[in-house]
Amino acid sequence: MKPQRKNCGGSQTRTVRAALESDEQFGAVAPPLHLSSTYSFAGFGQRRRFDYGRSGNPTRDALAEAIADLEGGVGAVVAASGMAAITLVCQLLKPGDVLIAPHDCYGGTYRFFDAMARRGAFEVLFIDQGDAGAWSQALARRPAMIWIETPSNPLLRITDIRTVASAAKEQGALLAVDNTFLSPIWQQPIALGADIVVHSTTKYLNGHSDVVGGAVVAASKELHEALSWWANCIGVTGAPFDSYLTLRGLRTLHARMAVHGRNAMIVSEWLQEQAVVKRVYYPGLVAHAQHDLAKRQQNGFGAMISFEVRGGADRVRAVVENVNLFSLAESLGGVESLIAHPATMTHAAMNVDARRAAGITDELLRLSIGIESVDDLIADLGGAFAIANS
Ligand code: PLP
Repeated sequence: MKPQRKNCGGSQTRTVRAALESDEQFGAVAPPLHLSSTYSFAGFGQRRRFDYGRSGNPTRDALAEAIADLEGGVGAVVAASGMAAITLVCQLLKPGDVLIAPHDCYGGTYRFFDAMARRGAFEVLFIDQGDAGAWSQALARRPAMIWIETPSNPLLRITDIRTVASAAKEQGALLAVDNTFLSPIWQQPIALGADIVVHSTTKYLNGHSDVVGGAVVAASKELHEALSWWANCIGVTGAPFDSYLTLRGLRTLHARMAVHGRNAMIVSEWLQEQAVVKRVYYPGLVAHAQHDLAKRQQNGFGAMISFEVRGGADRVRAVVENVNLFSLAESLGGVESLIAHPATMTHAAMNVDARRAAGITDELLRLSIGIESVDDLIADLGGAFAIANS
């Protein structure tokens, strides 16, 4: 494999060209898919670059390099899912360590932290990361790790990465940021002081809703080595075919994100004007409580929008049942638009009290805005609202 020409052009060019022409045998422009689970030794005691597929694979490594490059990290580990990536990061914690996490993170992340804490793997403090008092109380517990998900899922709250990074440094805590909602195109947590960046590559990085995958990017060589060691040890590394598809999806990331973002801005502004909509959550709106922070910290506002429907459960059901283009489905970040009801879908893993504390109501709907024509998306939502109103 020819080494990737990392510094060739800007981020957009490097994303398109990641690992192209790396095949030295046939000169294939698109990098080949290596499925072999094992690799022959050159001779007795002569290990080549790869020996076994769990610890290393050329296709997976090419994806890891491309993601690390985009995030400005030293290296990355490609995992079998976003949750596998999160499981991997938590190997850095030991019993007695304190983890500070957002109370409104992705439901599966919440469930995992909670379950691990219950069995004594570490202690978790779920806090409202917008509350200065909650921060000072939690920081007084001398955390070993701080977890941020910004924008948060599903309420799109923004956390100031730079401020938390300096508090983490003061405490000697690691800062991990789940960057799934924005992708490195719109937010680069390592440049703002994070030690670790996590992705569910299932979402924007792959972008086509046909792979479940994850990645962990490390800001330092030591962390990358520790994470790679653990990934091999516990066996959470991603499959070659999934890596192949994700690297293919990644090439169009810049182009996709531009359309996602444009569409989301137009849809969110339109939603604000609708009688059936009580409240819109989108960081791009001036009315969003942390719009200025989002503008400062991010290069784009994302393409996830949540909104509360006025009028109770029947109205919510009517909207969901009468959209035609938006698929009623979990997940996000694919080229196609999705609608989800967090309380019964993405965040059903949180109990009612935890959901209430996080502000996730039964009237909340979440949209993953795709790259279809924005006129069609608005017409679809408008049709469903008209029926819900009748
Ligand atoms: N992080 C965030 C922000 C998510 O939204 C998700 C899944 O929806 C995950 C992590 C978990 O990723 P995966 O479903 O790939 O395991």
